[in-house]
Amino acid sequence: MRCHYCVSGEMRPGTTAITLQRESTSVTFHHVPALVCDACGEATVDAKTSQKLFDLADEMVSTGVPGLTAEVSGMCDIAA
Ligand SMILES: [Zn+2]
Repeated sequence: MRCHYCVSGEMRPGTTAITLQRESTSVTFHHVPALVCDACGEATVDAKTSQKLFDLADEMVSTGVPGLTAEVSGMCDIAA
């Protein structure tokens, strides 16, 4: 798949980091499965995965993660 951003690169399976802002809390997910451009580094996360991240961020905020940056790793199974 061609990169839609730089057009010269190729999108390949990889991982990226995504930060979501929820009220006063920002939640950063690492190792999110994504297609990553081998030329410019542009990352694309599919709709299902990003919905899951939004749900997780909401859940973390509602269960009382303090107003700090919460870092989550090992999310590689999220697309399963
Ligand atoms: Zn690109």
